Amino acid sequence: MDKKVGVAIGIDLGTTYSCVGVWKNDQVEIISNDQGNRTTPSCVAFTDFGRLIGEGAKNQIAMNPTNTIYDAKRMIGRRFNDTKLQEDIKLWPFKVINGTRDIPKIVVSFNGEVKEFSAEEISSMVLIKLKEAAEKFLGKTVHDAVITVPAYFDDSQRQATKDAGHVAGLNVLQIINEPTAAAIAYGLDMRNDIARQINVLVFDLGGGTFDVSLVTIDNKGTIIVKAVAGDTHLGGQDFDNTMVDFFVEQFKRKHRRDMSENKKALSQLRVACEKAKRVLSSIIDTTIDIDNLHDGIDFSMRISRAKFEMLNEDFFSKCIEMVEKCLGDAEMKKNDIDDVVLVGGSTRIPKVQQLLKDFFQGKELSKKIHVDEAVAHGATALAGKLTVCFRGNDKNLVLRDVVPLSLGTDLYDGSLSILIKRNSPIPIRNEETYETVMDDQKIIDCNVYQGERSRAQENNWLGKFQVEVPPAPKGESKVRVVFAVDANGILNCSGVELTTGRKRELIITNDKQRLTTQEIKKMLDDAIKYKLQDEEYKKKAFIRNALEAYIYDVKRKIKKIENYTKMLHKKELEMMEIAIEKANEILNEGQLDLDGYENELDHLKMVCPPFISKHI
Ligand code: ADP
Ligand code: MG
Repeated sequence: MDKKVGVAIGIDLGTTYSCVGVWKNDQVEIISNDQGNRTTPSCVAFTDFGRLIGEGAKNQIAMNPTNTIYDAKRMIGRRFNDTKLQEDIKLWPFKVINGTRDIPKIVVSFNGEVKEFSAEEISSMVLIKLKEAAEKFLGKTVHDAVITVPAYFDDSQRQATKDAGHVAGLNVLQIINEPTAAAIAYGLDMRNDIARQINVLVFDLGGGTFDVSLVTIDNKGTIIVKAVAGDTHLGGQDFDNTMVDFFVEQFKRKHRRDMSENKKALSQLRVACEKAKRVLSSIIDTTIDIDNLHDGIDFSMRISRAKFEMLNEDFFSKCIEMVEKCLGDAEMKKNDIDDVVLVGGSTRIPKVQQLLKDFFQGKELSKKIHVDEAVAHGATALAGKLTVCFRGNDKNLVLRDVVPLSLGTDLYDGSLSILIKRNSPIPIRNEETYETVMDDQKIIDCNVYQGERSRAQENNWLGKFQVEVPPAPKGESKVRVVFAVDANGILNCSGVELTTGRKRELIITNDKQRLTTQEIKKMLDDAIKYKLQDEEYKKKAFIRNALEAYIYDVKRKIKKIENYTKMLHKKELEMMEIAIEKANEILNEGQLDLDGYENELDHLKMVCPPFISKHI
């Protein structure tokens, strides 16, 4: 790839938290958000008073559960009818419907209207927030970014994430796997301590996804991924959900009331469970207390670390199984691993650490890199490398990643013919020739699947393309199918008809579930519209606040000036008092637009006599 001039950012777009960094003065700077935090909740809220993204959205989640969207990453690139998605929909307090072409759409009430958003659009809003934080930090516009995805994301999820970047107005330089990014951060940090090639196991357990990667790193900056394993639906949110289910049951038992349909109560409970879960990582028991949780009942209940561990036992064992699978795929043994690196907020859970340590026969786990920032850190270093601002020791950074899941097409008997095996290094290109199975067959259908099951239909269907063939006895017409996975892990398929010698090439990237160019264009336009609206709301809030402050000040000052009524003409006094009262009413009603509030403030300033204004 050609190097870009200028700055590029690295973005860890997480299920629950996101993080952004910039390469500056030959090093990574992680950027704080407007609240001073280095990670930002991947959460967007819609209200009748505008849109909130990040901290603001998360803070009001229990009050506005149906219009506060989180977990967009669990939706992105999935079909509406996906069984995992259907299970999630049951748990989410917000509404998700089947849009066109099986694309899930989130329905919210925004500015008094019902609106539908795709997961790409919600994710793009989070990306815009991070982009803006970077721009504020740098004092200039940012165009280019490296965005991370879980290693175990399939092709549609990667494509959709790239689209989200595009809708956010970003040129996505590269999509890179989260554990690989963490390995870059680890490599940078350890560059002076690595004397030879070492084998590192990156264990990344976040809020929504789990990835394990086996990576070799040397002291020249070469990072080669040997194997990945994981689950795109395993993480902290699942642990929160098991706790919620447990407390709903306890509530039923204790109070004989079912709160499972009360969205507000469930949201409050989920927030409290997430907090309790964090507490249980440092102390061994805690209490959940929520006043007026359901049907006017206050809820208070103890939960111990042991209980929490028991509730999530299956999830934790699954993590260890994945580690075993990854080692097996890389053809390595436990003692071949030099370092086990923890990434992701959920690796703070003591049980997870203990199981992992036990699995590696008591080996100490590496906590050298920051569990919340390592992914963004590595993405930023790669962004730096891809732009000319990158100098220094690490320009040799060489990455070789792998395909997480096998890619293939269906055969006539319903089995899957694999063209690219899982854990093949990328970029990669493979081809296979298929022949017609019937006389005078006109078309060869090529369904593209991703997964490890031998029956094609049991895998994840990515899309389909068709190649026309000239009529001939069966077996005589042939099509050469080519699968190519680029450095982003994104697949391109093509089919060429060979029999006649004329090559007709057809390239279809799985456009069936993807947003069309027009849809993306509309989202880009909407993003600008929403940004302007947000600015308008901000200005309005500012002027409302100024008006309120002015009234308050006038009242305070006139209280201080003795006999002020005598210093004014009756008419002046009356006008002032009427104006204050009217301004108060206007504020309470909250119906005016920006100009309305500005006019009101100007009017108030005009009717307040100079001796009062002077004091203000
Ligand atoms: P993601 O990248 O998927 O957004 P993160 O790596 O940011 O996830 O991790 C967020 C998850 O980590 C959340 O589910 C959060 O509850 C969990 N988490 C954070 N701190 C702790 C802790 N001290 N104990 C247990 N879980 C934690
Ligand atoms: Mg993460």
